[in-house]
Amino acid sequence: MLNEPGGHAYLERGREVFRLREYDPFISDIAALMTGSREILYYVSTDGFDHAYVDAACRALGLGYRLLPVPFPNLSCSKTALLIGKRTRSLKEAESRFKHLAGPYEFGKLLGYPGCCVNFYADSGEQRMSAGKKQSDIIRRIYGNTPDKKAFPFFLNNVYNYFSRPNNAAQIPDISRQRRLFSLNPRIIPMALYVIAWHPCSYHCAKSLKAAREIFSFLTKHVPTFAVKLKEHLARPVIFLDKCDFVSLRGEGKDGKEVRYADVAPPFSLAIDLSKRIKKGNRVVIHHGTISIYAKSGSCEKIRQPKAILLNFRA
Ligand SMILES: [Zn+2]
Repeated sequence: MLNEPGGHAYLERGREVFRLREYDPFISDIAALMTGSREILYYVSTDGFDHAYVDAACRALGLGYRLLPVPFPNLSCSKTALLIGKRTRSLKEAESRFKHLAGPYEFGKLLGYPGCCVNFYADSGEQRMSAGKKQSDIIRRIYGNTPDKKAFPFFLNNVYNYFSRPNNAAQIPDISRQRRLFSLNPRIIPMALYVIAWHPCSYHCAKSLKAAREIFSFLTKHVPTFAVKLKEHLARPVIFLDKCDFVSLRGEGKDGKEVRYADVAPPFSLAIDLSKRIKKGNRVVIHHGTISIYAKSGSCEKIRQPKAILLNFRA
């Protein structure tokens, strides 16, 4: 179970320092800050923040924080944002710059994300705005921008990371579908299942991979139980249809087209019918828009699904 009661013990030289929760602030982001992959963390919470927890966590880890007004007036959420930083100077700088943010490019750069990934995200964001219509999910665009599709490092699995993914033209239905997905997974927090907080420009992005390795090794050292569970959930092949429609598999992928598996794995998505059918087999092939599910007996069920892609994340 990922969401351990009382949080995950942060161990420093074998000594328990503090019990970190998985979210608000997210545990992988704390690691990114501590390893220097990021200078600043920024959150806008729907329900506000647990001030006592934020204060205690920042004191225990030697971090600074600020609560400030959200610079996006149209956002339907709490009007308070949380900034966390390691150094007082960068925190002060960020605080003044957040007041004058122009768009996703400046925002991503300020948060310390790799330039290639910020450009990729901002460019597709611009298209989305000007088209004014539903655009394919960022996961599909990253997959399209990844030349070698045979296998991806689990460090860059962002399937469950819903930050900055609701589509402008479909924001309300998107958010309500996400909530339904979360309710199917009461024992885990899908939103906390990531190593890097940003969306990579490709599933082999060298800059994202470098940061992810540093973040993950920090997690392994300081919050080992969380690191083990995180890897277990991320190092899995995923049949992806859309934001809230996918099937994660307890198994091993081959050539980016085929997976041999023992079972469907959490987090569970809204692709409930597909998931049930896949459960009946032990091998699946995704090719040219068809999902072929093979049972032990050798029988095969073919499902026409032009949206299906295989994201072969592995350890
Ligand atoms: Zn990149």
